Amino acid sequence: MSQTARQARPPLWSPPLLGALPGVKAAATNRAWGDLAGADAQAAANRERLRAALGLGGLAWAHQVHGTEILAVEDGGQGPLGEADGLATARPGLGLLIKQADCQAVVLAAPERGVIANLHVGWRGNAAGMPGKGVAFLRERYGVEPGELHAAVSPGLGACCGQFVNWREELPESFLAFKQGEDRFDLEAATRAQLITAGLAPERIETSGVCTVCDRDYYSYRRDHGTERFGTVIALARRS
Ligand SMILES: [Zn+2]
Repeated sequence: MSQTARQARPPLWSPPLLGALPGVKAAATNRAWGDLAGADAQAAANRERLRAALGLGGLAWAHQVHGTEILAVEDGGQGPLGEADGLATARPGLGLLIKQADCQAVVLAAPERGVIANLHVGWRGNAAGMPGKGVAFLRERYGVEPGELHAAVSPGLGACCGQFVNWREELPESFLAFKQGEDRFDLEAATRAQLITAGLAPERIETSGVCTVCDRDYYSYRRDHGTERFGTVIALARRS
């Protein structure tokens, strides 16, 4: 393989358990894949390179607004949708992309049912209960029971860097359970607890343990205050 060809496929992070489920693909990019959020030609080329690398027929993403709206995407994708912070599908070969710079992507999969989702969960998403809303959406829209789901939390803001000076105003009182020291919060632990409350089996939830502020392989809004975003994708394998 030439040097150029090798550089064309930088490494991807994949959740060891969920990523190994039959019929499911899940991966997070890093800054070597470039910005996935922009409306410019470079970001479009980066998204296309990701789609091709994962062998997907299409990629769907939304205009993320730190809300709790979730969309079921059942067409071919390949383009931006409206405002939403969660995407779900039963369509094989369609990648659901969440763009991030410290926020978590929470991927959900029920491989036996052929249903997946990807949720954008920043601290506002945690505070609004987005993980549980995603689980409820899959039950209502697709009839998937929480006990059928596997979940993985992508690289994101770690407790090491999760300082919230205004936590009394910004975070619900229940988040005291995830508080460390003066004003740091473990949002990965919050997501895990929210998924367990929603009915997922603890052994089916995995977290990356990777802090995007500490690890310079990732874009970090807290560290760099930039507009670039890496991304997490989940897809159902195409039926052959
Ligand atoms: Zn950190």
